[in-house]
Amino acid sequence: MKSKNRISRRSILKGAGLVSAMPLLTAASYPSASGRGKTSEAFKEISEKVWSTPFIDTHEHLIEEHQRLAVPPIHLRSDDWSMLMSHYLDSDFLTAGMSQQDYQAFYSTRMDPEDKWALIAPWWPHVRNTGYGQAAQITMRELYQIEELSASTVHLLQERYESVRRPGFYRMILEDICRIESCQVNYIGRPFCESRMPLLLMQDISIRGMYAIRGKPASVAVQEYSEPAGMKVMCLTDWHRVIDWWFDKYGRYAVAVKSQNAYSRDIDHEQISAEIAEPIFKELLDGERLDDDKKKALEDHLFWYAVARATEHHLPVKLHTGYYAGQNINLPLWRIRNNPASASDLCRRSPKTSFVFMHIGYPYYEEMIALAKHYTNAHIDMCWSWLINPSAAKDFLKKYLVAAPANKLLSFGGDYFHIEPVVGHASLARHGITQALTELVIEGWIKIDAALDLADAIMHQNARRIFHLNEKAEALKQAEWAK
Ligand SMILES: [Zn+2]
Repeated sequence: MKSKNRISRRSILKGAGLVSAMPLLTAASYPSASGRGKTSEAFKEISEKVWSTPFIDTHEHLIEEHQRLAVPPIHLRSDDWSMLMSHYLDSDFLTAGMSQQDYQAFYSTRMDPEDKWALIAPWWPHVRNTGYGQAAQITMRELYQIEELSASTVHLLQERYESVRRPGFYRMILEDICRIESCQVNYIGRPFCESRMPLLLMQDISIRGMYAIRGKPASVAVQEYSEPAGMKVMCLTDWHRVIDWWFDKYGRYAVAVKSQNAYSRDIDHEQISAEIAEPIFKELLDGERLDDDKKKALEDHLFWYAVARATEHHLPVKLHTGYYAGQNINLPLWRIRNNPASASDLCRRSPKTSFVFMHIGYPYYEEMIALAKHYTNAHIDMCWSWLINPSAAKDFLKKYLVAAPANKLLSFGGDYFHIEPVVGHASLARHGITQALTELVIEGWIKIDAALDLADAIMHQNARRIFHLNEKAEALKQAEWAK
């Protein structure tokens, strides 16, 4: 996108006095019960390695830069500094006790940015140390040079927020500040996004709507996929053809397929034949309400249909597992805790499919380590886990690396719609990775050379191999929307 106001990345960095991300701790401040000298040495070497190694970011929901710069921006409730405190920190404010009324006002477009501070001031001390809160704080420090959020700094924060949010800021944030080589975007709004930055914002194909039945009238749900394909859906075979169309059109450009349907049910998908699914699909198209057994049977059939297409196209299948975003609506831990067990059935049923289980199945992450240890086709993605609970994520990483093959672990992805907090999250993750690797060395589990090699594997090499990124980059250069 060309614009008269376009500024170079360097000039944004220089003008706003920005710096690239820095370690959160120095060697001298690194706490350890063991000998200080040895600790400091290992910490320093690993820290330098991790902070200079690029990430491949395996999961975001980023909207496109031009959509973000549109007036009003698409998908954002507010476009001032309060945006930094939304998705996902807003949930912590509510569960800390903030009222719905103050919450609505804080994220509205109608209130002066300076008046907003008064609304969160009572709650900020309670949430600033959570992963969500820390990512926001680090973003303020590294992107805007604001050390402490307060009544006296909020005006400056707003000024700098506006000075950064200009054409070119996506590349500046991702490449220059976060050292992110490429992102993998699960675009919300269309099953596949023809990105204007196709090599930086690589895309997943969203398969959720191919199999999940979610409240909407069937005609509406079907249209989302059938209309772009230019097809009419009268029976299950038609719907199979629609699914095929998405893989034929976008399979070579997509990095993976993605579904977050574990927000609605467990991932306990049984293999159900088309003969059983066909009459149920017909009932659905006729507008009938399916009972739970029929709904599950149809979803299970279509899940495996989509997974089989993904497998044919060498696309890994990314599935949400574990904790849910949001607050006070529904967090069925009794069901979520079954995710790792159901995941083991998926791996067994389709050994040729590469499954990527997201978010370490938090809080049931020990089970996910067992899964990756046992099944060749089980990969674990730490995306979002640094934000949900950074200390647990570090614990998971240490345990994973001494239990399961390191080539199946992905260490970073943010899950954000807006780009700025990626800065804080990338620093949080680098901090945690540094800590985990250092502790493994000083506790005597692994040697320092192994730790340095592991940093490369989990931060970028595994992602490049698992998602065939070199091949995808070549295909994307030829894509019609890239020209
Ligand atoms: Zn997500």
